[in-house]
Amino acid sequence: MGWDRPILTDSGGFQVFSLAKLRKIQENGVRFQSHIDGSTHFLTPELSIQIQQSLGSDIMMSLDECPALPSDKETIKKSLDLTTLWEQRSLDAIGHNDSLFSIIQGGTYHDLRRESLDRILDIEHRRSAGKGFAGHAIGGLSVGEPNEVMYEVVNEIEPFIPKDKPRYLMGVGTPEDLVTCIDLGIDMFDCVMPTRNARNGHLFTRCGDIKIKQARYHEDFLPVDDTCSCYTCKNFSRAYLRHLFQSGEILASILNTIHNLHYYLTLLGECRKNISEGNFAAFKKEFFKLRGMGNE
Ligand SMILES: [Zn+2]
Repeated sequence: MGWDRPILTDSGGFQVFSLAKLRKIQENGVRFQSHIDGSTHFLTPELSIQIQQSLGSDIMMSLDECPALPSDKETIKKSLDLTTLWEQRSLDAIGHNDSLFSIIQGGTYHDLRRESLDRILDIEHRRSAGKGFAGHAIGGLSVGEPNEVMYEVVNEIEPFIPKDKPRYLMGVGTPEDLVTCIDLGIDMFDCVMPTRNARNGHLFTRCGDIKIKQARYHEDFLPVDDTCSCYTCKNFSRAYLRHLFQSGEILASILNTIHNLHYYLTLLGECRKNISEGNFAAFKKEFFKLRGMGNE
């Protein structure tokens, strides 16, 4: 892969549950059929750790079961029991740990989220200092539930997650989700949104989003965002990007991806700067005001 910077890997749990056509969950692990070639695999917590270690991962995730939402409480509770067992085995498999994160599950039930976290902290308490999890993730959200429900789950559980370790909200989200959840105390995110939306011609800017295929950009010779310092904005117009997208050129995906990743990295950099300067509340207000101006 040739990547000499930090690597974060997921356990494969979410991928099995979201992509595999056939899967069978057993206490020991999950048997599933590859969506690529139909071959059968059996993924256990131990195998997931082994794979992540082989990849040279710096931040690894415990294997978890990711139930679909909405699910009834009994289903979520059963899933939570299995995930807790797998987290314990993941921690056992890794030995000396400075890289494995736990994943808090529990769907949209606040009491089950608390139970999940309490049991994770209990696993840690039964070990010597420094051998617990390196950080704590909130999983099983951003799977189709309304935004407000997601914010509420984060808001309810966040005060109980230890503050001396990174807190990671998995699979989130839009620029608005990020700024809102940072305000709620989240430190880390991951999401396909900047890259997948780029490939679909959806560009993020300070003043709202741009769907580059729209006819209004046909003769628009401005950059995507004239305050953006990325390679795409420095060198190409909206009209040219629209032409590339409409022609099905791979370069459209590349240039759009460069811009969207730059936008996300800049946004998060601004969040960090404003937090350290004590200006986050004002920054958040201005962010929402500008984004609401909209290009759509
Ligand atoms: Zn740009």
